[in-house]
Amino acid sequence: MTRHYDYLAIGAGSGGIASANRAAIRGAKAAVIEAKAVGGTCVNVGCVPKKVMWYGAHIAEALKYSEAYGFKIDQNGFDWATLVKNREAYIDRIHGGYQRGFESNGVEFIEGFATFVDKNTVEVNGEKITADHITIAVGGRPMIPDLPGAEHGIDSDGFFALTERPEKAVVVGAGYIAVEIAGVLHALGSDAHLLVRKDRPLRNFDVDITDALLQRMEQDGMKLRTECNIESVEKQDNGKLVLKTKEGENITDVDCLIWAIGREPATDKINIEAAGVKLDEVGYVCVDKYQNTNVKGIYAVGDITGEAALTPVAIKAGRLLSERLFNKDMPDAHMDYSLIPTIVFSHPPIGTMGLTEAQAVAVHGEEDITVYKSNFAAMYNAITPHRALSTFKLVCHGPSEKVVGIHGIGEGMDEILQGFAVAMKMGATKADFDATVALHPTSGEEFVTLR
Ligand code: NDP
Repeated sequence: MTRHYDYLAIGAGSGGIASANRAAIRGAKAAVIEAKAVGGTCVNVGCVPKKVMWYGAHIAEALKYSEAYGFKIDQNGFDWATLVKNREAYIDRIHGGYQRGFESNGVEFIEGFATFVDKNTVEVNGEKITADHITIAVGGRPMIPDLPGAEHGIDSDGFFALTERPEKAVVVGAGYIAVEIAGVLHALGSDAHLLVRKDRPLRNFDVDITDALLQRMEQDGMKLRTECNIESVEKQDNGKLVLKTKEGENITDVDCLIWAIGREPATDKINIEAAGVKLDEVGYVCVDKYQNTNVKGIYAVGDITGEAALTPVAIKAGRLLSERLFNKDMPDAHMDYSLIPTIVFSHPPIGTMGLTEAQAVAVHGEEDITVYKSNFAAMYNAITPHRALSTFKLVCHGPSEKVVGIHGIGEGMDEILQGFAVAMKMGATKADFDATVALHPTSGEEFVTLR
């Protein structure tokens, strides 16, 4: 007999898990199908292992500052393998937590790879499973460029599989992942090079913030190569790589090449044509604001929609979808994709929400935009020989000076933004910020004392 569910999520990543759990909590008979490790990209090869590595890098930086704080420490090296072992053990515990969550909510976890048979049916391990509601939450995967020798490089999944620290590492790309991985490698002692094809990484961020990032990279000794394009990669007999650039340079003695040039949707292997679901030209699933695809009863959440590829977005969209489907009190529930805050775990971290200054000027006109900015030395490193500037900025609109953009790079920014994100979502003005008493001494107080 064919198994049948009210709700079926394909992919146990952030979106699939959240939606299946919420569906079950609301009384639906729910299941989630996953071929790899539970938790998807975020838990296994994304946010979680990345943040652990970033914390490792953070400790390396603290050691650098420790002498100025009076510590006399003999550092006897750094063991990458220990960090990776503890990181993976932590991830295993998260896996266990997910399984316990499924059990207590009554979600069935089905291990295997799902392909569509028709719009109500998928096949897993040779078995046909039907459902009234099916959510595609299969996420994405890293891209590798099409150039000779590209296969000698690894992607971000490969980075997390490294069991020892590469001596000389080259990271190619200009987005979140490239900046984060290059920063971690540099802080943990690799000879790290970040290669970008244009003038800077994170080009869609506010230019004052990326200016500050570039300054900090230079100050910290990170090797950034701009306007640099790889033409081919050769592997030598000694195992080292030679990267030939279009600009005529050879980058030699490379132990590890990491491609971080973006991600692509994983819709190509699930026989989605059988369900008749419409994809865009790249392969992302087209959805409306309710996460509906063009096929009734089929939805999509998370990275596979091509919309803000962030874990909390997938979770929120997944939960709200299940509320709409199974909670009669929330028939209009849907994700609000406006004003999404994000953090780049660079060194130091970047936090951003809303419009950059350039975007605000383009949308509202220069005369309607007021910008407040502060460059300051955070106390944390100001007492050390590594004094460095943080940059915090507010972009305000109109006579009421409604805050339409908040941007910062500096120690603590990763934790500072969340509270201000609430204020901005509520429509706070510069006067509201100013009316708030500062917390002293912190970096966050800069945002309520900007002149
Ligand atoms: P992104 O799409 O953000 O960035 C990739 C960048 O690499 C491109 O924008 C482009 O920048 C550059 N690039 C593209 N092709 C090439 C090429 N052939 N050679 C050299 N450079 C190239 O991808 P990521 O993989 O970094 O991240 C994917 C998404 O994952 C992010 O957008 C984010 O939503 C999410 N993410 C979030 C994190 C967080 O919240 N902290 C962490 C990691 C990922 P340019 O045009 O400037 O050259």
